[in-house]
Amino acid sequence: AGRTPLLKVENLGAGYGGMPVLHEVALEVYPAEMVALVGSNGAGKTTLLRALSRMLPCTGSIVLNGQELAGMTPDEVFGLGLVQVPEGRQLFDRMTVQDNLLMGGYRRHDKAAVARDLDKMYALLPRLAERRRQLAGSMSGGEQQMCAMARALMAAPVLMMVDEMSLGLAPVVVDQLMEVLAAIQRDGVTVLLVEQDVQLALSGADRGYVMETGRVVHSGLAKDLIDDPAVQQAYLGL
Ligand code: ATP
Repeated sequence: AGRTPLLKVENLGAGYGGMPVLHEVALEVYPAEMVALVGSNGAGKTTLLRALSRMLPCTGSIVLNGQELAGMTPDEVFGLGLVQVPEGRQLFDRMTVQDNLLMGGYRRHDKAAVARDLDKMYALLPRLAERRRQLAGSMSGGEQQMCAMARALMAAPVLMMVDEMSLGLAPVVVDQLMEVLAAIQRDGVTVLLVEQDVQLALSGADRGYVMETGRVVHSGLAKDLIDDPAVQQAYLGL
């Protein structure tokens, strides 16, 4: 309340080849928050992420740090610090862990800061430090997800958007990744967590937005959403 949002989306519409998918989407993300964007398969979450990173044309307004993103290219948006951890990780499989991380920082000019951040990533994720010379594609799914998040962090994001982090991973691995995300948030990075696993995302987030068929249908504090009978019935199997 009273604070300026880092990201403010208003009246956003987008679709594919004239077929509308998103309708009047509005959401806000405040600095240092973790916000969950949840909904079933096909609700439009990935489409929203594509619109935010300007990979898909849209109508309406997307303001990041006071700047309107509407007319920008994906590269310009990335340069402003809106960085995605894509669904399916999309690592450079035949490059080492370290080279993947360095790719995340390729746009940054302050190479000393990049080197410091690399050390920081290895301190945060000792598993990646041990495997820095290993080819990314030869690691486990959980390790690859860690690598994808670390690569995104190497870009020094102002907002890190994580798409379907838990997909295909064992619950114990997902729990570890949620702890990593919490540590990332404590370090001051703002996180938008996009998940089909509603329980998981709401349990880790400060606030949440629930999407159905291209619209935001519920929003609020994550703990209130978990207690909301409509959300429980539709998504939490209660
Ligand atoms: P998931 O988590 O399964 O990706 P989602 O909530 O991210 O689900 P979207 O992938 O954004 O949902 O899909 C929303 C709607 O847009 C769906 O009806 C889908 O069929 C449609 N859609 C997605 N991508 C395309 C595309 N490239 N061309 C046409 N329609 C698409």
